[in-house]
Amino acid sequence: MAEKHVYRFGAGIDGVNATEPAGETVDQAKWIVGGKGANLAEMAKIGLPVPPGFSITCQTCVAYANAGNTWADGVLDEIDAARENLEERMGKKLGDPKDPLLVSVRSGAPFSMPGMMDTVLNLGLNDVSVNGLIEQTGNERFAWDSYRRFVQMFSNVVMGVDGDFFEDAINEKKAEKGVKLDTELTAEDLKELTQTFKQIFAVNVDSQAHPEVTVDGCAAFPQDPKLQLRLAIEAVFGSWMNERAIIYRKQNKISDDLGTAVNVQVMVFGNKGETSATGVAFTRNPADGTKEFYGDFLVNAQGEDVVAGIRNTEPIADLKTVPGLEEAGKQLDEIFVKLEEHYHDMMDIEFTIEQGKLWMLQTRVGKRTAMAALAIAMQFEAEGAISREEAVMRVAPDQLDQLLHPQFDPKADFKVLTKGMNASPGAAVGKVVFSAEEAVHCANKDQPCILVRWETTPDDLKGMVAAEGILTSHGGKTSHAAVIARGMGAPCVCGAEALKIDAKAKEVTVSGTDVVLHEGDIISINGTTGDVILGAVPLVRPELTGDLETILEWADEIRRDASRGRIFGVRANADNPEDAQLSRDFGAEGIGLDRTEHMFLGDRKEIIQSFILADRTGAKQQALGQLLKVQTDDFLGMFKAMDGKTVIVRLLDPPLHEFLDNPRDYAVELAHAEDRGESDIQLKARRDLLARLDSFQEANPMLGLRGCRLGIVYPELTEMQVRAIASATAHLKKRGFDPKPEIMVPLIGTVEELKVVREQIEGVIAGVSEQTGVELHIPVGCMIEIPRAAVTADEIGKYADFFSFGTNDLTQMGFGYSRDDVESAFIPLYLNKKILKANPFETLDPGIAKLVKLGVEGGHQANEKIVCGVCGETGGDPDSIQMYYDLGLDYVSCSPYRVPIARLAAAQAKIKSNGGAQKLA
Ligand code: PEP
Ligand code: MG
Repeated sequence: MAEKHVYRFGAGIDGVNATEPAGETVDQAKWIVGGKGANLAEMAKIGLPVPPGFSITCQTCVAYANAGNTWADGVLDEIDAARENLEERMGKKLGDPKDPLLVSVRSGAPFSMPGMMDTVLNLGLNDVSVNGLIEQTGNERFAWDSYRRFVQMFSNVVMGVDGDFFEDAINEKKAEKGVKLDTELTAEDLKELTQTFKQIFAVNVDSQAHPEVTVDGCAAFPQDPKLQLRLAIEAVFGSWMNERAIIYRKQNKISDDLGTAVNVQVMVFGNKGETSATGVAFTRNPADGTKEFYGDFLVNAQGEDVVAGIRNTEPIADLKTVPGLEEAGKQLDEIFVKLEEHYHDMMDIEFTIEQGKLWMLQTRVGKRTAMAALAIAMQFEAEGAISREEAVMRVAPDQLDQLLHPQFDPKADFKVLTKGMNASPGAAVGKVVFSAEEAVHCANKDQPCILVRWETTPDDLKGMVAAEGILTSHGGKTSHAAVIARGMGAPCVCGAEALKIDAKAKEVTVSGTDVVLHEGDIISINGTTGDVILGAVPLVRPELTGDLETILEWADEIRRDASRGRIFGVRANADNPEDAQLSRDFGAEGIGLDRTEHMFLGDRKEIIQSFILADRTGAKQQALGQLLKVQTDDFLGMFKAMDGKTVIVRLLDPPLHEFLDNPRDYAVELAHAEDRGESDIQLKARRDLLARLDSFQEANPMLGLRGCRLGIVYPELTEMQVRAIASATAHLKKRGFDPKPEIMVPLIGTVEELKVVREQIEGVIAGVSEQTGVELHIPVGCMIEIPRAAVTADEIGKYADFFSFGTNDLTQMGFGYSRDDVESAFIPLYLNKKILKANPFETLDPGIAKLVKLGVEGGHQANEKIVCGVCGETGGDPDSIQMYYDLGLDYVSCSPYRVPIARLAAAQAKIKSNGGAQKLA
């Protein structure tokens, strides 16, 4: 069958529902006609009032772009046929001088990308059909307002004419007429403005670059509705690759290959007088999840007016009280309920009421904050609409980060400067900046900032990503700033009306106070309460309580349920008792990596230095004795904090010179000592020390004397560490504790290395056991972080009780990239050029995954009972966690703050790989 490029939806005036679903479910259809198109068709299918139209597929967009912005044969004919059919269904034609049909042309990708791509409204108007619109509506002002809006939007969106020209012309007109508001302009004023706009078009559109709109050698606003439609569709297709859409996709991990659909839909008007209105709403509160209808509307306005925050909106709850809108308001409430019953989720809606009649323009699963996501998932489960597994699937793990992010310290004392709307929860502290560019500049210098704007526009996206938080003086909870901030999980306070922002002068005055804020001043905002504070409020980490705790408990039940898929554990990487306790509080089931080198920093550095640099055996022994004591204390603390839970202690890994100071400092000191005329003996000691220091330097330390090699060259270090572990264990066991240490050997490359080290470890443990009289079973395993280890895991596994995949080194060595050197040097470029799909240090690379696979298979071949986990950074990344489940790992280990995210992601991975969430019967 030939590929279908166009799908129809909705009923015409004949009442016949012509909807052609592009798939059996919305989820299937969205890949073809985009989310908006799929949901319009779905709403039409269940009998909701949807203005009819048709969707041109995402695949058409991709093919159009791939063919260098040209149309494949037959596609324009198919669109033309759909247009004709729509005209027939409506009994009206585009451009008709008596009764013109008007359409909107909107983007709609498989994933929602609010405000990122282009839209054209009122298409079909021209110099003749504007009179037909006057005739039909009897409303001259409305008709000219519609036409001038169309010329403005088409010129800007389709032809790229700078929007400021039009805004300036409107302002000039208002000044000329001595009025303040757009609504005070008369029909005649708007007619004149339309002429001015057409002149702006003629002057600013390059006729040579756009022969299709050129008449007699000059650019002229196109009068042919078919041409208007084609150009608008092409522009919407083109907007898929505009800069802000690309940034948004990168941020939200949406593939560039999907393309956008285009929805051509009959226009309905919310600006046809006092019984017309337009609004946006959510079926529940998207900021905190409260079960209430939530949103804004505006009487006598078009949709963009609500989102743009230009006029102050009214709360949706008041709609039913507006004379002439009561019925539509009631119907809308019923539709909210019907939509939730149908979708089993919180929905986001756009609607328009045209002279009392309600029309649904869009619905989609509503974006929500993490707090709301948790609350709503639990409500739907409690209402019996979804299963626990579905509830667990409803919360995006990365989103939890918002809740684990700082909040104002409840003990902090501060004075609220002003208040706005609590648009996106969480708290932020930073310098005031007034532009997206400045926000990016600050972020590049690691300086936290708050982006302060009258209202944000899609062009501010870069700055919104870079800033810690967003503060606006205008716009409601569905304004651009609020929607985007919630999507990103950035704290946002919007509509703080007391702020008078002068972005040019880089100054904010605060009504009712004598405070003047300047660029660089520190402020704090609380997106949970709407508070704005002058100065820095101390921030604290929140605790896991309430809905978050419950959903994570459900996730744990799923992870630990052996009856459906493998048990999948979550451990933490921690190397001190405080972090171990935090990990435990966050739900870690053990410590997957205790990097002991971190125990040799701070005041310990001197002791390890004296061990490394000692010139006599006695001095070395003395340093080792001191180290043994402090290490034993360290392990006592760790094992107590994790009593009853596994603690994998990794033997010393880094090259020894990392503990030493820079030899240059010693060289300088030596020179000073020579100048001072120190004695020959003293100078010789200094020179010997410097020579020893120099001998530890390596040209390529990452590949040098480190890991197990260190323990083989300096067995006394291994002996000291193992003795400390075993002694601490014996000590605690004698006192009734239940320590569960395991010893991990780093950087194994060959089985012989592990054999040698393991033999030594077992000898020391046996010795401590004998001395203390305590039976000790301490498993011994190794890191798999060198490619050779992964490919010889079938040998190494014979001597390992467990493997822990170190994907930091495995990625470095697998790619031949040194992380410290490449992450800023060329990974961003590689990502832009699509040489890499993702940063391999953040998300497990498929090639490195093959090494992990070899390692897991080899390990199991050698030792059926071997326990396999991961402790590299990717262990806390939800996408990688899915891969680790599928690769057969038993657990992931990550930094303490990512443990809750990993618990949820691990449950989701297991659900996805075992047939998806169980549905309620
Ligand atoms: C690893 O290589 O993944 C690992 C956990 O070890 P480190 O980061 O300490 O080298
Ligand atoms: Mg490593």
